[in-house]
Amino acid sequence: MKKQFAIIGLGRFGQSVCRELYHLGHEVLAIDKNEKKIEDASSYATHTLLADGTDEAALKQIGIRNFEHVIVAIAEDIQASILCTLHLKDMNVPKVWVKAQNSYHHKVLEKIGADRIFHPEHDMGNRIAQFLTSQKVIDY
Ligand code: ATP
Repeated sequence: MKKQFAIIGLGRFGQSVCRELYHLGHEVLAIDKNEKKIEDASSYATHTLLADGTDEAALKQIGIRNFEHVIVAIAEDIQASILCTLHLKDMNVPKVWVKAQNSYHHKVLEKIGADRIFHPEHDMGNRIAQFLTSQKVIDY
């Protein structure tokens, strides 16, 4: 079934989430404050929007509250990530999934109600270690 997603922040992580969802046939709104990122995103997102994810009025105006699922993929600017997440939860977006930069960022995100928190490099490292030690890998 086709679902609606919004991705805020189009770094490597945000882009790859966005591309995959789009290729899977879902409706994806890509948001970034960088004009070049938004231009590029038109090839892998259903809709694009040049906006600051910390701007509450802009988020309201685009009707972000109507999205069931929003992914916040801003990590370097921790303050922006936190503020954006806070606005989304204040607007009662049901599922807000957020990329965290470090354990302090993670703790704050947890406190303000992020529904799922990712550490992609860490999570992928764990998965690879598990895969390497699973029986599915043939030892040459
Ligand atoms: P990567 O996924 O490439 O490792 P990252 O997780 O370090 O990147 P950032 O470099 O913080 O993430 O930012 C990713 C994207 O988020 C960039 O394209 C940046 O323009 C965008 N971005 C940063 N702050 C905001 C904001 N306040 N509103 C919207 N987009 C933002």
